[in-house]
Amino acid sequence: PHGIKSVLRELGVEARNPAFSTGLKWGGATNTKTRAIHSPADGQLIGEVSFATAADYEQVVQTAQEAFQTWRLVPAPKRGEIVRQIGNKLRDYKEPLGKLVSYEMGKILQEGLGEVQEMIDICDFAVGLSRQLHGFTMHSERPAHRMYDQYHPLGVVGIISAFNFPVAVWSWNAMLAAVCGDVSIWKPSEKTPLVAVAVQHIIRDVLKENELPEGIFNLIIGDAEIGQLMAADGRVPLVSATGSTRMGKKVGEVVGARLGRALLELGGNNAIILTEHADLDIAMRAVVFGAVGTAGQRCTTTRRLIIHDSIFEDVKQRLLTIYPKLPIGNPLTEGTLVGPLIDEAAVRGFSEALAAVQQEGGKLLIGGQILTGDQYPGGNYVQPALVEAENYYHTVQEETFAPILYLIKYSGDVEAAIALQNGVRQGLSSSIFTLNMREAEAFLSQAGSDCGIANVNIGTSGAEIGGAFGGEKETGGGRESGSDAWKIYMRRQTNTINYSRELPLAQGIKFDI
Ligand code: NAD
Repeated sequence: PHGIKSVLRELGVEARNPAFSTGLKWGGATNTKTRAIHSPADGQLIGEVSFATAADYEQVVQTAQEAFQTWRLVPAPKRGEIVRQIGNKLRDYKEPLGKLVSYEMGKILQEGLGEVQEMIDICDFAVGLSRQLHGFTMHSERPAHRMYDQYHPLGVVGIISAFNFPVAVWSWNAMLAAVCGDVSIWKPSEKTPLVAVAVQHIIRDVLKENELPEGIFNLIIGDAEIGQLMAADGRVPLVSATGSTRMGKKVGEVVGARLGRALLELGGNNAIILTEHADLDIAMRAVVFGAVGTAGQRCTTTRRLIIHDSIFEDVKQRLLTIYPKLPIGNPLTEGTLVGPLIDEAAVRGFSEALAAVQQEGGKLLIGGQILTGDQYPGGNYVQPALVEAENYYHTVQEETFAPILYLIKYSGDVEAAIALQNGVRQGLSSSIFTLNMREAEAFLSQAGSDCGIANVNIGTSGAEIGGAFGGEKETGGGRESGSDAWKIYMRRQTNTINYSRELPLAQGIKFDI
């Protein structure tokens, strides 16, 4: 269907794929633990992967450590040149890669292509960054002394990624890590390993063409078990993990116990505030795409809509007009806006959350059905739901990774809305729609949104790679991608140089030798 066979051929994805790659070599093809990957779009088998063993993991870490000895000595702008070539190869393969993202994960084709574009963009960003790994210079308090700080490569970076951004999140980490002089080991989600295999083929071509050693970009296929090996491994100074808060708590604990660095990008429970001064025409576009785009499976998906009571009915009616017309269907078909959920467990989670929220007093306004029929093969298509609810409901406090939008009413001033917005355990993305400057500034102030991302007159979902991405509280506190997020991939060193003939001691200490 949709030329997937030729896409797989072009990307080097086989019926049965090996368990790991050190960049140049593949291994673990004969491992007995395997996983079959079916497309959520139509339930068809796409391919199979082998799972890496602990011995495979050991081999990968050792190869990575060895490669680090060479890679860290390559001048940063030269490392940038390799990343530039990776970006160009991704441009060449944008179409098939985007298709595979869409077919394996279920997001619509335009989003699949958008995800590959994000990879290209972060490559460009990283190339520029490779000449800008700046430290500060300081004035010493001692005469004839000079002080500065510098950033050195850190070592092996472990990257654990989630199914919903099967390749972009890896590139945010791996491309910055690469220009910083680090080597990386990527453990993609066991739900979406094939597109990772495809990307690793592209990486291999670039390494080969430049006669670079194996071990700079490694891939390892597996589930939580391999993730745990990485988390516990003292040879991996930084573990960057994207996924559920449940996973992040485990990884954070294990990495913390060995005093390693953990960069955690976890669940969100994102809200849009609509005040009485909102431009509802633009707001509705943001709300609908934020809530139903990627079938509600973005970490930045809009899950709560906090609406001023004076416009509540108007907003509800507008949504009730839009929701029945949502184009739901095959993600590869042009015109589709909402594709399937990733798997049966996600569909169950959707249904269970809707049942639970109604038990708590929530009112299901529309949606919630599991769609059946020829148009919806595979059993993973659902009708996005709107629910009138209260912020304190248990169900509303949780992140359900599905297209459910909770409509929550507030009255009074914007501070009441901000309190509701902040009144959850997660802190990823937030937004306010208002044309009132006082409301907007209150939302952005130190007493405003407590999230890592706070937007005005633009929705919660999606982010530009130029900004630092991540969130507070149970979202994990990590930042990746743009701004100065690169610093976590390096070790900082403060240097003091004395070019005088004295050795002045601090604190006025005097002694003779
Ligand atoms: P998940 O937590 O089930 O899995 C994510 C990754 O962690 C997978 O690679 C998995 O194998 C691995 N993993 C699971 N348990 C582990 C453990 N104990 N130790 C080590 N590794 C382990 O998440 P998912 O279903 O793939 O993705 C959806 C979740 O990811 C949502 O909660 C979403 O909000 C979150 N997410 C967050 C961001 C962000 O940037 N904040 C981005 C994308 C997704």
